[in-house]
Amino acid sequence: MTHPPVNLAVSGRTRVAAVIGDPVAHSLSPLLHNAGYAALGLDWVYVALPVPSGRGTDAVRALSVLGLAGLNVTYPHKAAAAAGCDELTTTARALGSVNTVTRRDDGSWLGCSTDGDGMLAALAEESVRVEDARAVVLGAGGAARAITEALGRHGAAVTVVARRRDAAEAGAALAPGAVGIDLDDEAGLRRVLADATLVVQATPVGMTSAEIASGASVVPAEWIGPDAFVAETIYSPDETAFLEAVRRRGRRGMNGVGMLVHQAARSFELLTGHPVDPAVLRAALPAKP
Ligand code: NAP
Repeated sequence: MTHPPVNLAVSGRTRVAAVIGDPVAHSLSPLLHNAGYAALGLDWVYVALPVPSGRGTDAVRALSVLGLAGLNVTYPHKAAAAAGCDELTTTARALGSVNTVTRRDDGSWLGCSTDGDGMLAALAEESVRVEDARAVVLGAGGAARAITEALGRHGAAVTVVARRRDAAEAGAALAPGAVGIDLDDEAGLRRVLADATLVVQATPVGMTSAEIASGASVVPAEWIGPDAFVAETIYSPDETAFLEAVRRRGRRGMNGVGMLVHQAARSFELLTGHPVDPAVLRAALPAKP
């Protein structure tokens, strides 16, 4: 059995970064970031810190006193962590959430969100144009909002689809000219999906073993038009029933691994100041059985 590279020379000078979440034990971030440190020869180490729900702001405020180099932030702390930062990037401010908290030279803490740009980088790798895309984002939660904001910033015409109309409209407010519709609006949904050049599946539907067994998906694959590229945010399972069904119908698509790797690469550079080759991070991911 091979082990991922780790910093075996941890000393009093080693910089420490972490991901906070509740739960956090499943996080792949330690694997990705430690692989990056090893590849670049950085005397850094990255750990997962279980922080109870409701204590995300406290965790960010504790960074200085603990001398930590920075944080990644996952469920359920993204909004609470934003509240603990000294300043937010324009994107993080619009989203009201952060996935990265990095220390600036003056000792203050900057909150950033790399999820949306991570998805855009993954789409670029697949040669998907977003500038004039007719994009449909399924979901209006944290990932969907970050992707909607990034798509809007790059000129895509976005429709946000969610169970609740108010959530869809709040998501749509993040991108110029975007509209929000609810899942019950079957006619509207069929129309935008048939016409889409890009569909982003940004709900958790398709992850559980029950959903895998039943082939659950938020919208029927057959409603998706011939010009659409389908991007999943889910990376486990490797291929959701939705992605499998749209591919079977001849559409191109990708799973959420690209987004995972590229958001981590952006985070890595924000935290350490060093760019990392995303291929190094991708290679560190556990092999599928
Ligand atoms: P979230 O904030 O909890 O949002 C989930 C969204 O999905 C909400 O809009 C929710 O609607 C909707 N939803 C949940 N169950 C649904 C159902 N049965 N039918 C229709 N809509 C449903 O979660 P998130 O952080 O955005 O994560 C969403 C997915 O993205 C997860 O699978 C996560 O693993 C993935 N993700 C991937 C990456 C990556 O790097 N690849 C990064 C972040 C997230 P309601 O508000 O109505 O419940």
